[in-house]
Amino acid sequence: MFPYIKKLRTLLLAIILCFSSTSIISSQQKWRKQPIRIAVSSSLFELIKDLDPLETIEKSAKKWEEAANVKFEFYISDKKAVSLSDPDGVNLITISPIPENLEFLGKNLSVIPAKTKLFYNRNQIVEADIVLNPYVQFSSDGRFGTFDLETIILHEMGHLLGLKHVFANGSIMNPNLPKNGVYGISQIFLRNLAQSDISQIRALYGTVSESCCAIFKGRISVKNEKGFLLQIWLEEKETGRVEALAPTDSSGSFIIGGIRTGTYKVFVQGTKRNKRIAKELGLVSLEANNTYTFEKAVYAYKIKQPYPEYLGFNGQIAKTAIGISAGRNYLLYIAGKSFLTEKIKVSTNSPYLRVIPETFSIHAFDDEIQAISFGVEADSNLPAGEYSLIFENENGEKTFFVAALISNLQTEVPQNFFIF
Ligand SMILES: [Zn+2]
Repeated sequence: MFPYIKKLRTLLLAIILCFSSTSIISSQQKWRKQPIRIAVSSSLFELIKDLDPLETIEKSAKKWEEAANVKFEFYISDKKAVSLSDPDGVNLITISPIPENLEFLGKNLSVIPAKTKLFYNRNQIVEADIVLNPYVQFSSDGRFGTFDLETIILHEMGHLLGLKHVFANGSIMNPNLPKNGVYGISQIFLRNLAQSDISQIRALYGTVSESCCAIFKGRISVKNEKGFLLQIWLEEKETGRVEALAPTDSSGSFIIGGIRTGTYKVFVQGTKRNKRIAKELGLVSLEANNTYTFEKAVYAYKIKQPYPEYLGFNGQIAKTAIGISAGRNYLLYIAGKSFLTEKIKVSTNSPYLRVIPETFSIHAFDDEIQAISFGVEADSNLPAGEYSLIFENENGEKTFFVAALISNLQTEVPQNFFIF
């Protein structure tokens, strides 16, 4: 018997959803070019122990500043309350458990670490207030059961800058940011921007110094379908690293900016009711400061077999990326409801990551949840970046776990699988 999957339901409940709340929705928000001034409520210093909240916030801010042409300034304030209906002209980070803030955080107080309120005026963000949940624990040392403050602030500042949630597991803008302890490890490796986050923020604000970037836009039309929403992403041809991504709108149009010069594979994935599309669309070579237009028509197929939706590591499954380190081997899982067929394949698009077929093991359960486990060998030259996992069933139907594996040089993720 395979004991791990039993944890599925409780684990999914343990995963948090982080919300941003927008007054006006727009896709092209920009702050004005001067530094963004943010008041840090003194409530943070009263309620968050064992770490310096201001120092942590500044670390998160620096990551966005290094990625794009944005600048922050912080000052400490006695202000406590989020602006609910009207902006008050002050950008605020607060954790005070006062009624306004609790009302804004809503009823999922046991699971939401933070929420950001945005006010717009003609597509321009005029104010952003970040409310941290006073009833969850924040830390900086990876302690199990706590949220990493630097990670949460990095995510909320992404909202403050105008970014929305994205579908890539390894993005800081993934809505499923885990607590430390999910997958049995600290989640501090998420404290960094994924390349796709860097692309997104550069697309909005540009860069300070580098010659950057290319814009890739166009339309994916789905034959005989209307309003089929898709995810488009680019992976570096040589390494398989995820470079940039965007969703399509209901007409199939998309625009992806902030892309570095390079040759990329284009991928598309989406599901609408019982129809699905998940495929590679070919290669593109992009050069900085240029705009490329891409048009493609694709067919959706009728889903014959449910597709897997969860990743797993160290006996737990979730919808969050898995950290790996170069030169090590890992035992990973893919799981879902009744998704297994006779012949299944798992692969990656990276020559630096090898899925070891001999290690395949299938686990089926009475409550319909099934899983496969497999070993992955990370080459010692694996570059830092985010990599996708590809699942394929015997009908040739694919599922891409976009940016499912994160390799970075700052955090070591212990090997959990020994081969040979
Ligand atoms: Zn969020």
